[in-house]
Amino acid sequence: MIIKIIPCLKDNYSYLLIDDINNTSCVIDPSEADPIAEILDKNNIRLDFILNTHHHYDHVGGNKKLKEKYGAKIVGYIDDKNRIPEIDITVKDKQIWKEKKFEAKIFHIPGHTSGHICFYFFNEKIIFSGDTLFSLGCGRIFEGTYSQMFNSLKFFKDLPLDTNIYCGHEYTLKNSDFCLKYDPDNENLKKKIIIIKEKLEKNLPTLPTTIKDEIECNIFLRSKNLVNFSKLRDLKDNF
Ligand code: ZN
Ligand code: FE
Repeated sequence: MIIKIIPCLKDNYSYLLIDDINNTSCVIDPSEADPIAEILDKNNIRLDFILNTHHHYDHVGGNKKLKEKYGAKIVGYIDDKNRIPEIDITVKDKQIWKEKKFEAKIFHIPGHTSGHICFYFFNEKIIFSGDTLFSLGCGRIFEGTYSQMFNSLKFFKDLPLDTNIYCGHEYTLKNSDFCLKYDPDNENLKKKIIIIKEKLEKNLPTLPTTIKDEIECNIFLRSKNLVNFSKLRDLKDNF
């Protein structure tokens, strides 16, 4: 399996997961169609599935066009079936979605939106976390409660430490400023920031990150209780 990171819009990432044996792929959260189509066409790869973590336009914007062009089937959370454009296949919490080489366990992780899910490709140890867990940050709470978001983040801490996390946005540098401000003595964080800056200077994505790195450095994952987490989330909204 090959993963291509595709920058979209201003600071979004879509991800192309390529099954190189069968020459097919699925795309996670296509913000827009063109950058994805370009890679598919250049490499002669089919697109069989579109996986959406949640319904926001910057994650589903390419659904319609890609479905029309490639005949891909769209996979999304059952309770969001009325707001994920062109949805074909609905999935629920803790279900395993499997199609040929693609095999992911679905987890419902509400907070950013009420129907947010992540796709955990446990065989490859990779997880697509959408706008719930970012590198060194977490999503804004738009539809859920603080408690829901706190629990959704807690879920990630139980994954194998070497799991690679691919999230929806390149927010890492800004997030790192916030972490450093409220966790100034964290040596692991300081080391990670050096690596982040090196990557950005070379115009490379700061992703994937790992569960281990996030547990060590992400102030929201390190937050011990709901009161503390809620306070941090409020501070971040105005940072
Ligand atoms: Zn979003
Ligand atoms: Fe987003």
